[in-house]
Amino acid sequence: MATRVIPPRILGKLRYNTASKPLNSANSSLSPTLSPSPSPVLPPPTSVLRPAAADDLNFNDHHKLFSHLPTSDLLRSAAVLHATAVDPLVDFGTWLLRSNLMNVNGLREILLASVRHSFYNHFCAGEDAPAAAKSIRALNSAGLRGMLVYSVEDALDNHACDRNFHGFLRTVDVSRSLPPSSVSFVIVKITAICPMSLLERMSDLLRWQHKDPSLSLPWKQDCFPIFSESSPLYHTTKRPEPLTPEEEKDLELATQRFFELCQKCVQANMPLMVDAEHTSVQPAIDYFTYSSAILHNKTENPIVFGTMQTYLKDAKERLMLAVEAAEKMGIPMGFKLVRGAYMSSESKLAESLGHSSPIHDTIEDTHKCFNDCSSFMLEKIANGPGGVVLATHNIESGKLAAAKAHEVGIGKVNHKLEFAQLHGMSDALSFGLSNAGFQVSKYMPFGPVETVMPYLLRRAEENRGMLAASGFDRQLMRKELGRRLKAAVF
Ligand SMILES: Cc1cc2nc3c(=O)[nH]c(=O)nc-3n(C[C@H](O)[C@H](O)[C@H](O)COP(=O)(O)OP(=O)(O)OC[C@H]3O[C@@H](n4cnc5c(N)ncnc54)[C@H](O)[C@@H]3O)c2cc1C
Repeated sequence: MATRVIPPRILGKLRYNTASKPLNSANSSLSPTLSPSPSPVLPPPTSVLRPAAADDLNFNDHHKLFSHLPTSDLLRSAAVLHATAVDPLVDFGTWLLRSNLMNVNGLREILLASVRHSFYNHFCAGEDAPAAAKSIRALNSAGLRGMLVYSVEDALDNHACDRNFHGFLRTVDVSRSLPPSSVSFVIVKITAICPMSLLERMSDLLRWQHKDPSLSLPWKQDCFPIFSESSPLYHTTKRPEPLTPEEEKDLELATQRFFELCQKCVQANMPLMVDAEHTSVQPAIDYFTYSSAILHNKTENPIVFGTMQTYLKDAKERLMLAVEAAEKMGIPMGFKLVRGAYMSSESKLAESLGHSSPIHDTIEDTHKCFNDCSSFMLEKIANGPGGVVLATHNIESGKLAAAKAHEVGIGKVNHKLEFAQLHGMSDALSFGLSNAGFQVSKYMPFGPVETVMPYLLRRAEENRGMLAASGFDRQLMRKELGRRLKAAVF
């Protein structure tokens, strides 16, 4: 694509810097402000987030932000981001890739090849583990780290769970083979190692037990609170039957898989991040996460991290309850904070069951919840064990969190705090934070194009709003490409 836009002679002359010095951190004179408590049960964070000092972060210096990117990569990124911002193009692409045309021999190969050379190369780390390792090395030389995401979809039976489980184990091996600290996390989806139907049944039982504590769950191990007083329980309309002996056997197998994966991460000293998914199965996912954290998080730095979706109305209360319980038990706990990626399906499900959406009524409420939860976690880790990953493309949230980290005295290169963005998204935010000295990771899914396709389609659909908001990145990329072109020509 690059050679079609700019003649190779000039392209070869386009230069980019390969070194960047971290910016000195500005002295923040922020004073804490009291935040109202969202929960009657637990104390609120002692302060709300406030913007970073102006010279602490710089997201506008396109020369510096993209200094690590070769021009060919910059051109491809700009082209892909421009394409994903055009709604009719996204509609047509997603329709095409979901249509029966994908079953027509010849056409299928052509479509997959075009996806591979555009969206796949932009958003994914490679087709297999060695390719992903190569991408991580390149990323690391640009000052960022990688979160290795072995891309698999939901498992329906034990056979699929076993296959996925071995893929996750191999991912830990790959991360071990890479330069120390170039991989920040290995990611796991519980829906890939425990059958979906079982996760739904467990979630039903956990919900019912929250409603009626007399319900006995013999399989349930120690865990932190999964629900708060305001958690919606509408998914479970009647008292569920206990797990059958066959389901209990499947649960044993799933528990064993997750246990072995955690153990392997403990041996590799590699944190394991559990992704959050639909609310229909999230109680069971939290159960697996919290019960494993109790077993494996032994030192100050947690191995097992959970994910909190702050677009949910009860997110802040649940986060505070889980953190408080972990503190009481002396277990260091880590959380990744996200806004959440299943907005339309959550609203549709709630509506179909005659309930209001579990998601905040306005996007401002979601932003506030994300920022409040960030503030809460930053204060916690500043004063104790645990860790937090702030996974967002939102520049305002990035600035606020950076200022808060500074205010509470969390050193920038600090193993307790990590910022994260999806590979191929919000490079300006990633490099801006990294240039300011923070640890920043990219979430890097890898796997064959066909396997990663559902991930790509989800990104296109679920993050439509976010992709449109990538205008900031696109604008900076255009400026930087213009600058390099001028430098090459004159
Ligand atoms: C490293 C990483 C890991 C991730 N892991 C997970 C995961 O495990 N589970 C998961 O669910 N998601 C995950 N995500 C996806 C994340 O939830 C999306 O990035 C998110 O949808 C976009 O949020 P943002 O913070 O980037 O904010 P922005 O760019 O500000 O995006 C705001 C988005 O919020 C949505 N939104 C939320 N609440 C509302 C509301 N009330 N009204 C209107 N719009 C609303 C909109 O769709 C909009 O796109 C991850 C993201 C990253 C970067």
